[in-house]
Amino acid sequence: MQGQRVLLRVDFNVPLSDGKIVDDSRIRAAVPTIKALLDGGASVVIMSHLGRPDGRVVDGLRLRPAAERLTQLIRVNVPTTGDALGVGTDDAVRRLRPGELLLLENVRFHAGEERNDPAFAERLASYGDVFVNDAFGAAHRAHASTVGVAAYLPSYVGLLMEQEVEALSNLLDKPARPFAAIVGGGKVSGKVAVLEALIKKVDLLILGGGVANTFLVASGRSVGKSLYESKMVDDARRILKLAQDRGVRVLLPVDGVVAKEVTRGTEFKVVSTDKLPASWHMVDLGPASITAIREALAPIKTILWNGPLGVFEIPSFAVATRELAKVAAEKADDGATVVVGGGDSIAALKQLGIAEKMTHLSTGGGASLEFLEGRDLPGLAVVPTAGSPYETLPIVYVAPVKPGSKPAPKRAPAKPKPAIKPSTLDDEGDEESGDLA
Ligand code: ADP
Ligand code: MG
Repeated sequence: MQGQRVLLRVDFNVPLSDGKIVDDSRIRAAVPTIKALLDGGASVVIMSHLGRPDGRVVDGLRLRPAAERLTQLIRVNVPTTGDALGVGTDDAVRRLRPGELLLLENVRFHAGEERNDPAFAERLASYGDVFVNDAFGAAHRAHASTVGVAAYLPSYVGLLMEQEVEALSNLLDKPARPFAAIVGGGKVSGKVAVLEALIKKVDLLILGGGVANTFLVASGRSVGKSLYESKMVDDARRILKLAQDRGVRVLLPVDGVVAKEVTRGTEFKVVSTDKLPASWHMVDLGPASITAIREALAPIKTILWNGPLGVFEIPSFAVATRELAKVAAEKADDGATVVVGGGDSIAALKQLGIAEKMTHLSTGGGASLEFLEGRDLPGLAVVPTAGSPYETLPIVYVAPVKPGSKPAPKRAPAKPKPAIKPSTLDDEGDEESGDLA
C-alpha cells in the first residue's frame, strides 16, 4: 500500500433528516478499511453516492455531513471536493500525501455514474493507482464507481465487503440447524426471489409486516384496508406450496393489531387474523403471534431477519418488532447465529440499543437480498476472486480489460464489460436515505 493512491468506493448512503445523519452505521462500517489503507501508507480518494440525485447537483445530497462524521470517527480531517471531477478535484488529488484522504462529492451528481459511462469511469479511475471496492450496499449496482473503474485499475475488495460476503455465505452454505428466516417489511415484491431462495435453505419461515398480509390473502383470509399486494398473491401461493412440498414450516400471524388509520394516536385493537375487519389496517402482530414466534424460535440455531414485523416507526405498532429484537438478542447471547439485514430492521434494533448483540448486521439492503438470492453482485464480480477463500462462490469472474495497468492516456477508452447489466430490482439500499426522514 505504501505510497499508492487508492481509489476507494464506500457506501456512505446514509439516512438524513434535516441535513443530519440519522444512522451512521454505514460510515462506521467503512472505517476499518479506511484506517488500514491510511496506516499502510496509502493516500485514499473516497467515492460514494448519496440518495438519488439522478445526475444533477442536489445540495441536500452533498456528502459533507458524511465527511464530518468520518472525521470524528477516524480523527483525521476528511476534506470533500465540490465535484467528483474537475480541475479543482484533479489538483486536490494530486496534492494528497501518503496517509491523507479526501472524499469526492456525490458521484451520482454525474449522469455517467448510473449509466456506467466509460468516459466518466476512466476519469474517476485517473484518481487512483488501484481500486478498492468496499461498498457492499452498492455492490448490486453496475455503476461507474462500483464496476466501471475496475476496467482501468487493478481491483480489490475491502474488509467490509469481505466480512459481508463471509457472513452471508456462511449462512447459505453451512448454517447451524434448525435455521429460521424471518421476513417482514412493507412489500412482497422485491422479496419474492429471496423468499424462494430461502425456502430451499431454511427449516422455518416466519412472516410479518405487510409481507404477511399478502400471504394471509394467499391463504384465503381478507385483510381489510391493510397494505397488501394483489399482484403478488399468486407468488405468495406458490411460495406457500413450495414450503409445503419441502416440509418447511411457515408461521403466519394468528392475530394482529388493527388501526383505524396508519398514524400516531389513532384507535387500535387486537383481533384474530381470521376476522380482520374490512375498514381497518393491520399494522402489527398481536400477542398470540408474538408468543408463537418466541416458541418457534426456541430450538433455532441460526436466524436471518429482514424487515420489521409492523409499522415500527409508530411506537404503538413497534411491539412485535421490539419483542422479536429482544428474542433475537437472547438467542445470540445463547450462541445462535443471528444475521439481520435491511435498513429499517437495523434502525429498529438501534432504537432499542441492542444492535451490537447480533452476530452480523448487513449494511446492504438490496445487495444483501440479491446475494442471498444467489445472484452475482456486479461490484463483487469485477474483482478477481481466484485464490481468495471465496473463489467457490457463485461469482462471475470478469477479467479486467487491462489487468494491472492504467489506461494509456491517448488511446480510446477500454470497452466496459458488457456482461454485467444494471440490476432492475428496486433499490432497497438507496431508499434508505428517505426511509427514516
Ligand atoms: P428493511 O429496510 O429492513 O429491509 P423494508 O424496507 O422491507 O425493511 O420494510 C420496512 C417498512 O415496512 C417500514 O417502513 C414499515 O413501516 C413497513 N411495514 C411493516 N409492517 C407493515 C404493515 N403491516 N403495514 C404497512 N407497512 C408496514
Ligand atoms: Mg427499507
